[in-house]
Amino acid sequence: MTLPAAAELESRATVLLAAWRVLDTAVKVVWNERLTTTAGRAFLRNGRVELNPTLLARAPDQVEMVLVHEVAHIAAFRLFGANIPAHGRHWRSLMRLAGQPPEVTHKIPVHGLGTTRTRRARRRYVYLRICEQCGDRQLLAAVRYGRCSGCSARDSFLVMKAPAGPAGEAALQRLSLGDVRAAFE
Ligand SMILES: [Zn+2]
Ligand SMILES: [Zn+2]
Repeated sequence: MTLPAAAELESRATVLLAAWRVLDTAVKVVWNERLTTTAGRAFLRNGRVELNPTLLARAPDQVEMVLVHEVAHIAAFRLFGANIPAHGRHWRSLMRLAGQPPEVTHKIPVHGLGTTRTRRARRRYVYLRICEQCGDRQLLAAVRYGRCSGCSARDSFLVMKAPAGPAGEAALQRLSLGDVRAAFE
Protein backbone atom coordinates (compact mmCIF):
# COMPACT_ATOMS: atom_id res chain seq x y z
CA MET A 1 0.00 0.00 0.00
CA THR A 2 1.47 3.32 -1.07
CA LEU A 3 1.10 6.23 1.29
CA PRO A 4 0.10 9.62 -0.10
CA ALA A 5 2.94 12.00 -0.90
CA ALA A 6 3.70 14.66 1.69
CA ALA A 7 2.89 17.38 -0.85
CA GLU A 8 -0.58 15.94 -1.33
CA LEU A 9 -1.18 15.87 2.44
CA GLU A 10 0.10 19.41 2.68
CA SER A 11 -2.48 20.60 0.13
CA ARG A 12 -5.16 18.80 2.11
CA ALA A 13 -3.94 20.49 5.31
CA THR A 14 -4.10 23.92 3.65
CA VAL A 15 -7.66 23.23 2.51
CA LEU A 16 -8.60 22.20 6.06
CA LEU A 17 -7.15 25.37 7.57
CA ALA A 18 -9.01 27.53 5.05
CA ALA A 19 -12.25 25.64 5.72
CA TRP A 20 -11.81 26.31 9.43
CA ARG A 21 -11.41 30.03 8.63
CA VAL A 22 -7.82 30.15 9.84
CA LEU A 23 -6.19 33.17 8.20
CA ASP A 24 -2.67 31.75 8.23
CA THR A 25 -2.93 28.57 6.15
CA ALA A 26 0.81 27.93 5.92
CA VAL A 27 1.57 24.39 7.07
CA LYS A 28 4.34 21.87 6.51
CA VAL A 29 3.55 18.14 6.44
CA VAL A 30 6.33 15.55 6.42
CA TRP A 31 6.69 11.80 6.80
CA ASN A 32 9.17 11.19 9.61
CA GLU A 33 10.62 7.68 9.65
CA ARG A 34 12.11 8.23 13.07
CA LEU A 35 8.73 8.39 14.81
CA THR A 36 8.18 5.13 16.67
CA THR A 37 5.03 4.88 18.80
CA THR A 38 3.42 8.15 17.73
CA ALA A 39 1.13 8.15 14.69
CA GLY A 40 1.50 11.85 14.23
CA ARG A 41 2.51 15.00 16.03
CA ALA A 42 2.05 18.71 15.59
CA PHE A 43 4.53 21.49 16.24
CA LEU A 44 2.17 24.35 16.93
CA ARG A 45 4.47 27.34 16.67
CA ASN A 46 6.23 26.06 13.56
CA GLY A 47 3.02 24.97 11.86
CA ARG A 48 4.55 21.58 11.19
CA VAL A 49 2.93 18.13 11.16
CA GLU A 50 4.94 14.93 11.23
CA LEU A 51 3.37 11.59 10.38
CA ASN A 52 4.69 8.10 11.05
CA PRO A 53 5.06 6.15 7.77
CA THR A 54 5.73 2.82 9.51
CA LEU A 55 2.53 2.83 11.56
CA LEU A 56 0.35 4.38 8.89
CA ALA A 57 1.50 1.96 6.19
CA ARG A 58 -0.15 -0.69 8.37
CA ALA A 59 -3.33 1.36 8.68
CA PRO A 60 -3.55 3.54 5.56
CA ASP A 61 -7.25 4.16 6.17
CA GLN A 62 -6.19 6.16 9.24
CA VAL A 63 -4.02 8.70 7.38
CA GLU A 64 -6.84 11.20 6.86
CA MET A 65 -7.98 10.97 10.50
CA VAL A 66 -4.47 11.40 11.89
CA LEU A 67 -3.77 14.29 9.51
CA VAL A 68 -6.99 16.08 10.49
CA HIS A 69 -6.23 15.42 14.16
CA GLU A 70 -2.80 17.05 13.96
CA VAL A 71 -3.81 19.94 11.68
CA ALA A 72 -6.72 20.67 14.05
CA HIS A 73 -4.14 21.21 16.83
CA ILE A 74 -2.43 23.83 14.67
CA ALA A 75 -5.77 25.42 13.75
CA ALA A 76 -6.88 25.54 17.40
CA PHE A 77 -3.56 27.16 18.35
CA ARG A 78 -3.88 29.81 15.62
CA LEU A 79 -7.53 30.51 16.39
CA PHE A 80 -7.57 30.32 20.19
CA GLY A 81 -3.97 30.55 21.40
CA ALA A 82 -1.89 28.28 23.60
CA ASN A 83 -4.03 28.29 26.74
CA ILE A 84 -6.62 25.73 25.72
CA PRO A 85 -6.74 22.04 26.58
CA ALA A 86 -5.13 20.05 23.77
CA HIS A 87 -8.21 17.93 23.08
CA GLY A 88 -10.81 20.26 24.51
CA ARG A 89 -13.89 21.88 23.14
CA HIS A 90 -12.11 23.98 20.51
CA TRP A 91 -10.16 21.11 19.02
CA ARG A 92 -13.18 18.82 19.08
CA SER A 93 -15.40 21.28 17.24
CA LEU A 94 -12.77 21.54 14.49
CA MET A 95 -12.67 17.75 14.22
CA ARG A 96 -16.43 17.62 13.87
CA LEU A 97 -16.42 20.35 11.22
CA ALA A 98 -13.97 18.23 9.22
CA GLY A 99 -16.26 15.22 9.52
CA GLN A 100 -14.05 13.32 11.95
CA PRO A 101 -15.07 11.86 15.31
CA PRO A 102 -13.70 14.15 18.03
CA GLU A 103 -11.85 11.33 19.71
CA VAL A 104 -8.30 11.16 20.89
CA THR A 105 -7.80 7.43 20.77
CA HIS A 106 -6.50 6.13 17.51
CA LYS A 107 -6.87 2.54 16.46
CA ILE A 108 -3.15 2.47 15.83
CA PRO A 109 -1.05 2.60 18.98
CA VAL A 110 -0.30 6.02 20.35
CA HIS A 111 -0.57 9.71 19.79
CA GLY A 112 1.87 12.27 21.12
CA LEU A 113 1.61 16.00 21.04
CA GLY A 114 5.16 16.75 20.00
CA THR A 115 6.97 18.93 22.46
CA THR A 116 8.10 17.73 25.86
CA ARG A 117 7.19 21.18 27.08
CA THR A 118 3.53 20.40 26.46
CA ARG A 119 3.75 17.06 28.22
CA ARG A 120 5.41 18.53 31.26
CA ALA A 121 2.90 21.38 31.36
CA ARG A 122 0.00 18.98 31.21
CA ARG A 123 1.06 17.26 34.42
CA ARG A 124 1.20 20.48 36.35
CA TYR A 125 -2.51 21.17 35.97
CA VAL A 126 -5.76 19.99 37.41
CA TYR A 127 -8.89 20.13 35.28
CA LEU A 128 -12.51 20.86 36.05
CA ARG A 129 -14.76 19.17 33.55
CA ILE A 130 -18.39 20.31 33.57
CA CYS A 131 -21.19 18.80 31.53
CA GLU A 132 -23.06 21.58 29.74
CA GLN A 133 -26.23 19.49 29.70
CA CYS A 134 -26.60 18.51 33.36
CA GLY A 135 -23.85 20.40 35.18
CA ASP A 136 -22.07 17.22 36.33
CA ARG A 137 -18.65 18.25 37.72
CA GLN A 138 -15.47 16.21 37.74
CA LEU A 139 -12.07 17.27 38.99
CA LEU A 140 -9.50 15.40 36.94
CA ALA A 141 -5.73 15.08 36.68
CA ALA A 142 -6.09 14.58 32.91
CA VAL A 143 -8.98 15.44 30.63
CA ARG A 144 -11.16 12.53 29.63
CA TYR A 145 -14.08 12.66 27.27
CA GLY A 146 -16.84 10.25 26.38
CA ARG A 147 -20.28 10.02 27.87
CA CYS A 148 -21.26 12.10 30.87
CA SER A 149 -21.82 9.88 33.90
CA GLY A 150 -24.65 12.20 35.00
CA CYS A 151 -26.84 12.43 31.90
CA SER A 152 -24.94 10.25 29.38
CA ALA A 153 -24.74 13.14 26.89
CA ARG A 154 -21.81 12.78 24.54
CA ASP A 155 -19.23 15.43 23.96
CA SER A 156 -20.86 18.20 25.95
CA PHE A 157 -18.02 19.01 28.33
CA LEU A 158 -16.46 22.33 29.10
CA VAL A 159 -13.00 22.11 30.59
CA MET A 160 -11.12 24.61 32.73
CA LYS A 161 -7.67 24.12 34.09
CA ALA A 162 -5.71 25.47 37.05
CA PRO A 163 -2.26 24.75 38.47
CA ALA A 164 -2.22 21.43 40.33
CA GLY A 165 -2.45 21.69 44.12
CA PRO A 166 -4.96 22.74 46.79
CA ALA A 167 -5.18 26.39 45.66
CA GLY A 168 -5.86 25.46 42.04
CA GLU A 169 -8.42 22.85 43.04
CA ALA A 170 -10.21 25.32 45.33
CA ALA A 171 -10.29 27.91 42.53
CA LEU A 172 -11.87 25.39 40.18
CA GLN A 173 -14.40 24.25 42.79
CA ARG A 174 -15.57 27.84 43.16
CA LEU A 175 -16.41 28.16 39.45
CA SER A 176 -20.06 27.88 38.49
CA LEU A 177 -21.26 26.52 35.18
CA GLY A 178 -22.05 30.14 34.23
CA ASP A 179 -18.45 31.18 34.98
CA VAL A 180 -17.09 28.36 32.85
CA ARG A 181 -19.48 29.08 30.00
CA ALA A 182 -18.49 32.73 30.04
CA ALA A 183 -14.84 31.75 29.74
CA PHE A 184 -15.61 30.09 26.42
CA GLU A 185 -17.49 32.96 24.77
ZN1 LIG B 1 -3.83 15.30 19.73
ZN1 LIG C 1 -24.29 15.49 31.85
